[in-house]
Amino acid sequence: LNRRLAEFGTTIFAEMSALAVRTGAINLGQGFPDTDGPEEVREAAVRALRAGHGNQYPPGPGVPELRTAIAAHQQRRYALTYDPDTEVLVTAGATEAIAAALLALLEPGDEVVALEPYYDSYAACIAMASATRVPVTLHPEPSTGTYRLDLGELRAAITPRTRLLLLNTPHNPTGTVLTREELAAIAELACERDLLVVTDEVYEHLVFEGEHLPLAGFPGMRERTVTISSAGKTFSFTGWKVGWITASPELVTAVRSAKQYLTYVASGPFQYAVAEALSLPDSYFDALRADLRTKRDLLSGGLAEAGFEVYRPAGTYFVTTDIRPLDSSGDGFAFCRSLPERCGVVAVPNAVFYDHREQGAPFVRFAFCKRTEVLEEAVSRLKGL
Ligand code: PMP
Ligand code: GLN
Repeated sequence: LNRRLAEFGTTIFAEMSALAVRTGAINLGQGFPDTDGPEEVREAAVRALRAGHGNQYPPGPGVPELRTAIAAHQQRRYALTYDPDTEVLVTAGATEAIAAALLALLEPGDEVVALEPYYDSYAACIAMASATRVPVTLHPEPSTGTYRLDLGELRAAITPRTRLLLLNTPHNPTGTVLTREELAAIAELACERDLLVVTDEVYEHLVFEGEHLPLAGFPGMRERTVTISSAGKTFSFTGWKVGWITASPELVTAVRSAKQYLTYVASGPFQYAVAEALSLPDSYFDALRADLRTKRDLLSGGLAEAGFEVYRPAGTYFVTTDIRPLDSSGDGFAFCRSLPERCGVVAVPNAVFYDHREQGAPFVRFAFCKRTEVLEEAVSRLKGL
């Protein structure tokens, strides 16, 4: 493994899912639903496969049906207008969108400012682009059970070498949803310092408090923002690996240049199915959110009763906890490695999402995109700790 990647090793999600399989524990580590998405969407994939739609290489930018559906979704939800032919690109999940955007837009030595804790692929992709990550740490506030972005710290992190802001809202792993005021301030800063922004909005539909506002909708941002989303989260098909970006024609062309040499294209028949999924009525999205809100409350309440300090997420399907009331060592890594043996549950240590590991050490993330009875069983096991 080369020097750029040497620090990354195996992702925590693979390690923790393997631990869950080995021990037979309930896996609240890696974020994936234990129930597949809508039957009609699965049927649409089967229909596409049988009809021979997408069984051979689909067009590089994505099949027109899906690009049109993505543009219509941005219009319908956010009143943002994108041209399906020049301003939409389909990718192999959000993961490839992140990689292709960073590889296309960064020069070696450029600085990328990202919120810490950050989704693990950000750090690896910044490294693959030979760029430098500059983390801005979100601050846990035990009194409110939320995380706070300090806009002064964000401003101070920007230097003449900063090329790009890498944002994520709703935020994995803290569940923070950036507010209108925060996004407006970020937009102003990006314009003032002439920065590009890559914004990972894969949890756009999983918001329980407040509302998701796409950064691209703020003044001056339409032309400098690459917005990323994914069918994995919104439709509960993480294995299909259908993601996308929306951006200006110049940015889409750049990202496509990188994308064509990463995978060229992916997910032929699934692209047709996701096009149908994006056209589902609002009631689908409302029901998904309502279901996950109930599960958030179930797991957050259970974790609090089990003795954890709980950071109640406004969005995503993750809840971050502080283990110190239960474990004075405050070592989330050791806690997660021993948890399956101690009570048959798997979680993820947030420290892996930090450069300043000591800041993340006592925090542990649990996923609640699981069936109610699974969450109830996990809570009852955790109460035995
Ligand atoms: N970004 C974030 C913040 C995520 O949590 C995930 C899913 N784990 C991804 C990107 C990757 O999405 P996909 O599965 O579509 O590649
Ligand atoms: N996004 C999921 C999570 O945060 C996992 C994705 C992955 O395994 N790479 O848990």
